[in-house]
Amino acid sequence: MTMKSLMNLYRVGPGPSSSHTIAPYNAALAFKRFAGDVDSFKVTFYGSLAFTGVGHKSDEAIRKALGNVIFEFDRETVPPRPLTMRFEAFKDNAKVKEATYFSLGGGQLQSEDDPSVNERDVYPFLDLRSILDFMGRRGMHDFKEFALKFEKPEIDDYLMDVVKTMIETVEKGLKETGKLPANDNPRLEYYRSAGKIFRQAHDLVGGEGRRSLFITAYAYAVAESSSNGETVVTSPTCGSSGVLPSVLYYAYHNEKMPLSKIRDSLYAAGIIGNIVKQNASIAGSVGGCAAEIGTASAMAAAAMCALMDLTPYQIEYGAEVSMEHFLGLTCDPVDGYVIIPCIERNGMGAVHAYASYLYARFVAPIRKNQVSFDDVVAAMKITGDSLDEDYKETAQGGLAKILEKNC
Ligand code: SF4
Repeated sequence: MTMKSLMNLYRVGPGPSSSHTIAPYNAALAFKRFAGDVDSFKVTFYGSLAFTGVGHKSDEAIRKALGNVIFEFDRETVPPRPLTMRFEAFKDNAKVKEATYFSLGGGQLQSEDDPSVNERDVYPFLDLRSILDFMGRRGMHDFKEFALKFEKPEIDDYLMDVVKTMIETVEKGLKETGKLPANDNPRLEYYRSAGKIFRQAHDLVGGEGRRSLFITAYAYAVAESSSNGETVVTSPTCGSSGVLPSVLYYAYHNEKMPLSKIRDSLYAAGIIGNIVKQNASIAGSVGGCAAEIGTASAMAAAAMCALMDLTPYQIEYGAEVSMEHFLGLTCDPVDGYVIIPCIERNGMGAVHAYASYLYARFVAPIRKNQVSFDDVVAAMKITGDSLDEDYKETAQGGLAKILEKNC
């Protein structure tokens, strides 16, 4: 298996979690087609979906596609993959069809029973080294030029729609003030604050603090919307959907960069995200939060570097340094809601991405990086594999344990 289309990485859909909302929703639609004319459905969630499916609105997403459904949350059976769903269809009180779907992160699905959901290989590459070698042999300096050799021509229009959705999401999120839905845990009472942070940034006189606060406000605007179940772009996931749009919006709104250039930066960011998706994981339930916020931050750093016309080596540097310092980051959403630590983490991921771009711009030319992006992705894979299950989106460890409702 090699890398998939960027259209499969950047998806538009409802938050709060691509692996727990977009993927179950699409699995339900696929199963509806697969099952044909039936009377009723039952869905069983396993692994992380069983532990955090309600807080992540997985059941709501499936109900939207299938209507009335009987749900079972099986927390005992150890599934073959962390995000497993079994769909059953009944007619005249007899089971007539069943299929198992795996959610792989970022909304991606896989199924042996229903291959209609499996994604197509598009890029004949597995790592950044081979991509940079390919580009070097052809004198290419631009990830867009590279991607257009393999993607369908409509990718450019698709990415323009993606960037417009990102901008709309930031602008809408800055205006919202309501309370985010959660259970009655007082620690989870959260009123949207992106607009207030934006106004504070506006009132600051200047300097790095002002920029960091603007970037934070934009990341919060999207992350709060995602947490509220509103439409966002997976970049690479819903849980981490605030990071990349935040730096792009900063470039667009504060730096007045043209929309077409912002769109083009999604190619470099997308290639970086795709390499992680292919060789490690972009799902918090598989690799911890490094898989989500770490990848999002690496993508955002790559985008910033591309926007500032840095070289492919510097783009790699920015992505690598951004990812390296998130290795081992745990996923511990309190009571299974994508609020704490998730929203703040989007802000930190975005600020860190901007700092990584600065390293790529000013440190990379004076000091050769000894760690390649492929090295850090390999480290991310072994680190994620060795993380305890409590830290893989099960809401059983870390902050989730300390702040849980019954503590
Ligand atoms: S802790 Fe990170 S990976 Fe886990 S749900 Fe929150 S944003 Fe997603």
